[in-house]
Amino acid sequence: MKIVFATNNAHKLEEARSLAGGRITVLSLSDISCREELPETCDTIEGNSLQKASYVAAKYGYPCFSDDTGLFVDALGGAPGVYSARYAGEHCSPADNIVKLLGEMEGKADRKARFRTVATLCAPGREPLAFEGTVEGTIATERHGSGGFGYDPVFIPDESGISFAEMEPEAKNAISHRGRALRQLFDYLQTL
Ligand code: IMP
Repeated sequence: MKIVFATNNAHKLEEARSLAGGRITVLSLSDISCREELPETCDTIEGNSLQKASYVAAKYGYPCFSDDTGLFVDALGGAPGVYSARYAGEHCSPADNIVKLLGEMEGKADRKARFRTVATLCAPGREPLAFEGTVEGTIATERHGSGGFGYDPVFIPDESGISFAEMEPEAKNAISHRGRALRQLFDYLQTL
């Protein structure tokens, strides 16, 4: 079975391919000659996830899934949340986002946070289906490690005690928000 992952993020694609296994082949957007920015204009991760997957399924005619992820920090009232990608400004880099986050968290004793992912499956002739994954952790006071992407150097999952950026990719996938959401999605696909 071939299915498109509606993402332009090479790290996410790699994570999804290592989780898929079996008879599921995960295609990239470039595999289907889709080279455009996907719409992502909702104010919830559920909405954005559905928006990206349904856009690609409708326009390109492939069964497809997408994910949308947010980092929700308790001491910041749930920010950056759905705005995690552009936390430090419209065209900011992941490094800019980390600088902003560490600045906002300076002096805060409560460093509890969680990543939440909603992965949405859109297949022709079927209702969209959403799968959710969460990982609890804390925000570090400085960067740790060089692996992964995004906020990985400053997110320490409770289950590992080291940052996502210090973990092997398989170890991150085993407990991560996206790993948890995508395993459910792939398990469902195996039943079709
Ligand atoms: P999106 O799902 O691509 O919109 O991601 C929103 C923001 O969260 C971006 O800044 C990503 O870099 C970040 N992000 C998504 N997944 C992860 C992850 O697994 N680790 C660290 N940051 C992530």
